[in-house]
Amino acid sequence: MTFPFYFSQNFILLNQDLSLSTPIEYLKGVGPQRGELLRKQLNVHSIGDLLTHFPFRYVDKTVFSSISQLVPNEYAQILVSVVNIEERGMGRSKRLIAIVDDGTSKMEILWFKIHRWLSESLVRGSKWIMYGKCEFNGFRWQMIHPDMEVYQAQSTSTLSKFEPVYSNGEILASKGLNSKGILKLITPVIPLLNEKNIPESLPNYLLEKLGLIPSWQAFRQIHLPKSIKELEDAQARLKFEELFYIRLKIIFAKAQRAQLNKGFIFSKSGDFFQNYFHHHLPFALTGAQKRVIKEIHGDMMSGKQMNRLLQGDVGSGKTMVAFLCMIIAVGNGFQACLMAPTEVLAAQHATAIGNYADSIGLNCCLLTSNIKGKERNAILKDLAEGKLHLIVGTHALLEDWVVFNNLGLCVIDEQHRFGVGQRAKLWEKTKPHPPHILVMTATPIPRTLAMTLYGDLDISIIDELPPGRKEIKTLHFKDVHRGKMFEFVRQQIELGRQIYIVYPLIEESEKLDLENLNTGYEKLLQYFPLPQYRISIVHGKMKPTDKHTEMQRFVTGSSHIMVATTVIEVGVNVPNASVMIIENAERFGLSQLHQLRGRVGRGADQSYCILMTSDKLSKDSVARIKTMCDTNDGFKIAEADLELRGPGDLEGTKQSGLIELKVANIFEDSKIFQAANAWAEKILEKDPNLENPLNSVLKQQLIKLEKIKFWSRIS
Ligand code: ADP
Ligand code: MG
Repeated sequence: MTFPFYFSQNFILLNQDLSLSTPIEYLKGVGPQRGELLRKQLNVHSIGDLLTHFPFRYVDKTVFSSISQLVPNEYAQILVSVVNIEERGMGRSKRLIAIVDDGTSKMEILWFKIHRWLSESLVRGSKWIMYGKCEFNGFRWQMIHPDMEVYQAQSTSTLSKFEPVYSNGEILASKGLNSKGILKLITPVIPLLNEKNIPESLPNYLLEKLGLIPSWQAFRQIHLPKSIKELEDAQARLKFEELFYIRLKIIFAKAQRAQLNKGFIFSKSGDFFQNYFHHHLPFALTGAQKRVIKEIHGDMMSGKQMNRLLQGDVGSGKTMVAFLCMIIAVGNGFQACLMAPTEVLAAQHATAIGNYADSIGLNCCLLTSNIKGKERNAILKDLAEGKLHLIVGTHALLEDWVVFNNLGLCVIDEQHRFGVGQRAKLWEKTKPHPPHILVMTATPIPRTLAMTLYGDLDISIIDELPPGRKEIKTLHFKDVHRGKMFEFVRQQIELGRQIYIVYPLIEESEKLDLENLNTGYEKLLQYFPLPQYRISIVHGKMKPTDKHTEMQRFVTGSSHIMVATTVIEVGVNVPNASVMIIENAERFGLSQLHQLRGRVGRGADQSYCILMTSDKLSKDSVARIKTMCDTNDGFKIAEADLELRGPGDLEGTKQSGLIELKVANIFEDSKIFQAANAWAEKILEKDPNLENPLNSVLKQQLIKLEKIKFWSRIS
């Protein structure tokens, strides 16, 4: 940066010269203090950053709401005159209150931070345009800290009838950088934008084919649209670009990795598979199970290393798919392992898979950190010598002391509990290629989202449940009706069924939660006394051996009720347990509720899920409980969940850049997403290394976006 830059605050405006990388301080109206704030609060460092701080909504400046027709909790723009102004309260509760009138009614405008200019300029009779959220406090309408400007009969700004609204936050607003303040910074920059200072970031052929406007124009129109059409054009262009590059980046990186990572070739399905498939299957596979096995085997014989995500609702039969894929590995001369997130789940899988394996004469063992001494040594020896074909375990399998003879496939259950780094540890266990990886998850999410979140994985979906499954009936009981719930439980036990009662356990309130569980347990003992009724109890703070004993009592049917924390969330399979009672259901997220519910409905009997909640519920909780009562479909639930919470809470969203989407919305813009994805695929298929000069802009953008490390690896 050369010296004179610092001297001219108006540099840009004087020279009509603009570069996106120019630090934000050089803009008129941004001094060192505001510059620091913009960096800290909005991550805006340069003029380019400011230009990508897009408005999140637009106000039609020519339209005003009437105070008499306001809607609570909605934003409105009003044209008012000040009737009265006064300060009330002392110290921290001091506030400035203006009564304003628009001819239809009066309302209160409140400020809790009082700037001198406010009290000076809000003189009685002055006319203002105010914009903000309207609330009704039971007596009168209120607006707090509105965006505002003095009304001028002939508006000076003829640029746009739509005024952009920018997000800012309290701190920026207190330094004059509320939405209007930000608009003031941006407005003089807009007319200076042209093809030179906003270089085109999409290839021309794409713009032409899709009828998209050029980048510089889109930037102008997204900030100061002159019409709806201009705004829509700008949004279409910028949304496409944003989603297109997300996909291009992911597909490109995947292709690069595939080039690098050759995989073991499982050319046949093998004798074990054939034998099991034709003579030992306990049930006919569903069409979906067959399809995903084909997809998976296709990967494993391709010569490339597989990285595949298997999605399927709870109870869709992922375990059998995993087992069949594992014996394909064995039939090709390799070992296979399955890794589960908890001891309980690993043990369950080991039992199921051990039984299947027995029938075709294969060995399968369980390995966890609790299996020690001689027993462990024997397992490790067999594993290293290749006598052990299949192994099921927890993350203990990743330890350095676990040495495989020739691991070919690793199945990972419930991906969200395993870090990517842990997956990498597996790779050190095999030579010359990394093992094939199959990740199974029961948290179904919409495909577009999955493609983005798990960008490095191919995706298979089991979209069909085994036949004969009865819908689980889901009921909601409030605490006041607890007696009815107990009565229901008693009836079900009389019919010979078993019952789960689950309590939430979250780390922050672990102690309280455990108390809650223990009180619940004691109450239960009074209602269901020994020896007629037997109750098991399991929670994370118990010794593993005690836990195991209690679980076994329930699994073998010798206890009627299992009281547990969410340790049973994943995987436990007791077909005779047909009632799931979830205590404090309002404290669970939707996907967790769905997981828990999936523990029942596995036997022949009608199953029930009872959601117990406190008597008073928040709006969000009501929505969640209603969703659960309305549907059993995991995909529908996942979508409702995303709608309620937004994708920000989903595991993996951070890395994917999804929550930083600036214009596009992964759900609303799914059509644009599909188009962007199709184009990204098509372009990379024809020009995998982006060497065609027509695509040079794509290559440059990728380098810029990603600072892609692996470029150096391509020769
Ligand atoms: P999840 O996908 O939740 O892991 P599981 O693999 O535990 O589901 O399967 C749930 C239950 O359904 C198990 O008892 C399993 O034996 C059974 N099952 C799996 N596939 C089928 C099928 N094709 N037909 C009938 N029952 C099946
Ligand atoms: Mg499972």
